[in-house]
Amino acid sequence: MKPVLALVGRPNVGKSTLFNRLTRTRDALVADVPGLTRDRKYGAGKIGERPYVVIDTGGIGEGLEGVAEPTTEQAELALAEADAVLFLVDGRAGLTAADQQLAQQMRTLGKPVHLVVNKTDGLDEDAASAEFYALGLSDVHAIAAVQGRGVRRLIDRVLETFPPLAEIDTDAEQAAEQKGIRIAVLGRPNVGKSTLVNRLLGEERVVVYDMAGTTRDTIEIPYERHGKQYTLLDTAGIRRRGKVFEAVEKFSVVKAMQAVDDAHVVVLVIDAREGVTEQDLHLLGYIIDAGRSVVMAVNKWDGLSVEHREQVKEELGRKLAFAPWMRVHTISALHGTGVGDLYPLIERAWASAFPKISTNALTRMMEEIVARNPAPLVGRHRVKLRYAHIGGSNPPRIILHGSKANDVPAAYRRYLENRFRELLKLEGTPVRVEFRSGD
Ligand code: GDP
Ligand code: GDP
Repeated sequence: MKPVLALVGRPNVGKSTLFNRLTRTRDALVADVPGLTRDRKYGAGKIGERPYVVIDTGGIGEGLEGVAEPTTEQAELALAEADAVLFLVDGRAGLTAADQQLAQQMRTLGKPVHLVVNKTDGLDEDAASAEFYALGLSDVHAIAAVQGRGVRRLIDRVLETFPPLAEIDTDAEQAAEQKGIRIAVLGRPNVGKSTLVNRLLGEERVVVYDMAGTTRDTIEIPYERHGKQYTLLDTAGIRRRGKVFEAVEKFSVVKAMQAVDDAHVVVLVIDAREGVTEQDLHLLGYIIDAGRSVVMAVNKWDGLSVEHREQVKEELGRKLAFAPWMRVHTISALHGTGVGDLYPLIERAWASAFPKISTNALTRMMEEIVARNPAPLVGRHRVKLRYAHIGGSNPPRIILHGSKANDVPAAYRRYLENRFRELLKLEGTPVRVEFRSGD
């Protein structure tokens, strides 16, 4: 599991600036909390080889002039999910009463707290930090989030205390054969995830259920269907109640992010009655950035009028045009309509995420693709691609080697990606096409 870092501090100290620097994903995930002045934002990032999750707690201490409010319930939820706290103060404004109050609250959390003195660009770091030692936090770092100065050192220090993540499963395919395809059912609250999970499990034999776990653990539900193994990854705090699974906890963004990392295929559920919302698109963006294969289930299709259905289909086509490779399927989890049809799509997405093709065959395919539409000239040289191989799975990575390969223009990259997709019949998964220059 990636360490979860919470950014805390009074308004204007630079939390969002640091958040943006630490997360490179386009899509920050936002906790669905109506009525909050500033949202809690979640993002994934990586510095060096070490990945992490960052939460910008946003709303904390947004009180009256300089006075920190007691920690709000929302910020507390974020802090409960965090493994470490980065407590930001403003090195230019100096120490304030609000900082002191917040520091006191942070000390009672029982989690590592790192004091981050921000905005020290153009200042003497030691002088700017000196007065903040009065907060009684021993781990003090001077940074300038705006320029990124000191950020790497800070994160290296923060992550030092966490054990390195287990080596990424190099043979995920073999693992899949043993425990089955790992499926995460994801979506906003109330779109019908628990209802769908119960349908997916249906009458099937659930091998293990109700595994004990803390809030932070992802619950895995292995089961069999038509003699095949699958494992459902819980994202919604699902527990067994009597004969069915029910969501008993609030939706946790951290848990959802972890399930995406752990899954082979994500089933992204949306509510047909609400159409494709911003939040749905953020979730989808996050899944694609993570390189996961995905099937979209448009739920609550029952009871919609013909006109309404047409309207939703039109909207789906328009808003999802950026991911034409994703299969979109309408279902009614409540009545079970269309749910069984998700399985072939999941299988297909899984097979696409783990393509099997030899270097020879892939190279021949590349030659065919290039012969039809030769690579353009870059300056006075023609890009010459020599061979291709599969560099990884889930997401599949196609590595193309050749001279001047790094200079391939974007339009030609897209051409190559689309043709490889077509010929390899890759469906439902993002694909990474990468180039290696031999000169
Ligand atoms: P938040 O309210 O804590 O999220 O603060 P923001 O990230 O929105 O930053 C508040 C202001 O401080 C913005 O105008 C930022 O550009 C500025 N700021 C953030 N980091 C730095 C920094 O390292 N140096 C300087 N000089 N300004 C910064
Ligand atoms: P979750 O929060 O995503 O797990 O959503 P739930 O599975 O708890 O469902 C939220 C509500 O939507 C419940 O009242 C369900 O009965 C209802 N619901 C779920 N699926 C469907 C469906 O296919 N059609 C209709 N009409 N309602 C549904």
